[in-house]
Amino acid sequence: MANQTEPSATRSILPADMISVEDARARILERFAPTPAEATPLLDALGLVLAEDVRAPFDIPPLANTGMDGYAVRAADTEGATYDTPKTLEVIGYLPAGSVYDGAVAEGQAVRIMTGAPIPTGADAVVPFEETDEYDWTTRESARDRESWGSWQDNPRAEVRIDVAAAEGANIRPVGEDVRTGELVLPRGTVIGPAQVGVLASLGLDRVAVHRRPVVAILSTGDELLRPGEPPQPGKIYDANAFGLAAAVTALGATPLVLDVARDTVEALTARIREGLATADLLITSAGVSRGDFDVVKTVLAAEGEIGFWTVRMKPGKPLAFGTLRGDDGREVPHLGLPGNPVSAMMTFELFGRAAIFKMLGKLEAHPGAWQRPIVQATALDRIANTDGRRFYARCIATQTREGAWQVRLTGPQGSGVLTSMSLANAYAICPEDTPAIEVGETCEVMLVDREAPIPTRTPSEPKDH
Ligand code: AMP
Ligand code: MG
Repeated sequence: MANQTEPSATRSILPADMISVEDARARILERFAPTPAEATPLLDALGLVLAEDVRAPFDIPPLANTGMDGYAVRAADTEGATYDTPKTLEVIGYLPAGSVYDGAVAEGQAVRIMTGAPIPTGADAVVPFEETDEYDWTTRESARDRESWGSWQDNPRAEVRIDVAAAEGANIRPVGEDVRTGELVLPRGTVIGPAQVGVLASLGLDRVAVHRRPVVAILSTGDELLRPGEPPQPGKIYDANAFGLAAAVTALGATPLVLDVARDTVEALTARIREGLATADLLITSAGVSRGDFDVVKTVLAAEGEIGFWTVRMKPGKPLAFGTLRGDDGREVPHLGLPGNPVSAMMTFELFGRAAIFKMLGKLEAHPGAWQRPIVQATALDRIANTDGRRFYARCIATQTREGAWQVRLTGPQGSGVLTSMSLANAYAICPEDTPAIEVGETCEVMLVDREAPIPTRTPSEPKDH
């Protein structure tokens, strides 16, 4: 209904109690906390956040060792060695990685030693094979490979010719070169990536304390919904939201709990919600939260806890419900009620659900802004029209020119029923509130959501055949 006191037609359709995206997100984040720490097998911890400092229980490497295959020597014995004036040393043993040499290297002696093996007592340098007569410069191959030098027992040699003088410490990796006993190796708040998994393994740890994966119950509501795999029926549509949202939840590192579709009755909805509340850290519902909607969703939510119904100044996805529901055990579980429209559901999850999951994962402890996607300035190659004064997140394909400048194109029609607009996008162009359009050639802010997105198979902006 037009509001006569509003100066512009655009603004008149905005309800007075609209809240900004930032305001909505701040109110939502207030209600979340990191999940408890849980000792987790290393590989399961990938992508999760350390809940405790990790200190080194010992030095790494625990012993000085060789960084090259070669001969452990006393550097002084090699002094003056050149290809023309080599030195000859007595070979007193062979040491593969994983063993410790019992004896000691005395003057004029050497131990044949393989990468990673601890430096024998008495030795203070390693001469690589390449600088001895174990290397054939005519074929540029190690003589060891040609003559099966790998087995000392089968083929011991009494002497080695040293062709190059070694400096003291040459090719030796000192004790604790990587970490020292007691050193803080990974502070709490660290996100466990492949390198961190490797470091934890190097410390001998097979489990690590991380904030456990939050369980996110996902509930689709509506009499019109079928589950994929069910035969089509007139008037029905397939439930896109439960699957799209469960995938988004999984991709963030949380565990989705997809509940059966709740039909539009108080009993069905109450039963499904209770089921979710029993184990979930967050309940996400879709549909039934629009203003003019007299869906049972609102009635049931109001009976189960304190819920606010917000009108967020964004598009797609303006209606949003948020609050706290009480589980059977009295536990308070946050509830995020997303719009039913699949594009709106995905976009509101992106802007609000994602940040909430980041907080539960513990990712915002060390870096409060970690949920933010990278934002770049890009030149619009398509006109991006924004009709009703809300902030418009346009589904786009962002590319970089050879020089590195960003450009964006729309994925095509931007209707909130066009779910493929999400699947084709690797970015969202942000058209600010009250900006009626971003014209071709103008610069706009673009939120990058998938830097590694595959090249779209459909040409952007090309109308689909119907
Ligand atoms: P509602 O919020 O219930 O008014 O729903 C808005 C629109 O979203 C309607 O066209 C619904 O059919 C559609 N919708 C609701 N839930 C889903 C879902 N899980 N998957 C696909 N479309 C949905
Ligand atoms: Mg509905």
